[in-house]
Amino acid sequence: MSLAALDLSGRPEGLAAVRHDWTREEVRGLFALPFTDLVFRAAEVHRAYFDPAEVQISTLLSIKTGGCPEDCAYCPQSAKFDTGVDAGKLMSLDAVLTEARAAKAGGASRFCMGAAWRSPKDRDLDKVCAMVEGVKALGLETCVTLGMLEAAQAQRLKGSGLDYYNHNLDTSPEFYGEIISTRTYQDRLDTLAHVRDAGINVCCGGIVGMGEGIEDRVGMIATLASLPVHPESVPINMLVQVKGTPLSGTAKLDAFDFVRTIAVARITMPASMVRLSAGREDMSEETQALCFLAGANSIFCGPKLLTTPNPARDRDMAMLAKLGLRPMA
Ligand code: SF4
Repeated sequence: MSLAALDLSGRPEGLAAVRHDWTREEVRGLFALPFTDLVFRAAEVHRAYFDPAEVQISTLLSIKTGGCPEDCAYCPQSAKFDTGVDAGKLMSLDAVLTEARAAKAGGASRFCMGAAWRSPKDRDLDKVCAMVEGVKALGLETCVTLGMLEAAQAQRLKGSGLDYYNHNLDTSPEFYGEIISTRTYQDRLDTLAHVRDAGINVCCGGIVGMGEGIEDRVGMIATLASLPVHPESVPINMLVQVKGTPLSGTAKLDAFDFVRTIAVARITMPASMVRLSAGREDMSEETQALCFLAGANSIFCGPKLLTTPNPARDRDMAMLAKLGLRPMA
């Protein structure tokens, strides 16, 4: 594919600034570009839609840890794997608000809360709605990830003022069955549709480095980029291998392939926040800088990402300062 052919790939002056009809062939063509051409094109798209010097700082808190009945092969919180993560109870409202205040004081503008559930029970949803209301009252953007949702549950969350719901597609439809057996790809798409129909912004991305092939990264991005409305937030995670999970010991993905995935997400979903998510603890600053150049404009700050290690805030702030980047207001 020539670079000229890509001029329609998400530039505001192009024929279609934001497209929803990305074919796998086109997405494959982007992945196949010379690395520098791909990153250059992604940086152009990034600059057309965002201030490239700004990075959104988010905080992710596990409000209910472990004991999950699902079998996501990457996840230390599944009850099916012996990973040393103990099952906890849902945190209290006060404890969550204390964490949210600390996150805000530390520069976060968005506060995400995750619960290790297949889907929330109605009595738990009431408690989560109170947390959303409390966190919003602090002036923070809110996001929750609670598993599968019914339409009525999505409406209740919307009523509490929730800004974003996270539910990842994880990988391509073809590779999905290698990773999860307890819910289907269609289940995930259904939850995303309920969230969208309720008027909540969608946070949806995936994980790379799970032993998938290039065609699976193509399939994942093509699926996300051809949703009727692009997710407003697209987290791209590098697998964090946890002992005891089936994916522990998987061959590591080359850092350039990770950056390519970020770049293709940026080009195909130009107006979305592309979040450089899990896996930064083991990622060099140079790789992260390439991710920012390729269009990533959001990170999670704080020493833990649910249950896995993440760079401490001071380290991230020092890195952003070195790169001349600043937290998004
Ligand atoms: S990723 Fe979520 S749904 Fe899957 S096992 Fe972990 S906590 Fe459960």
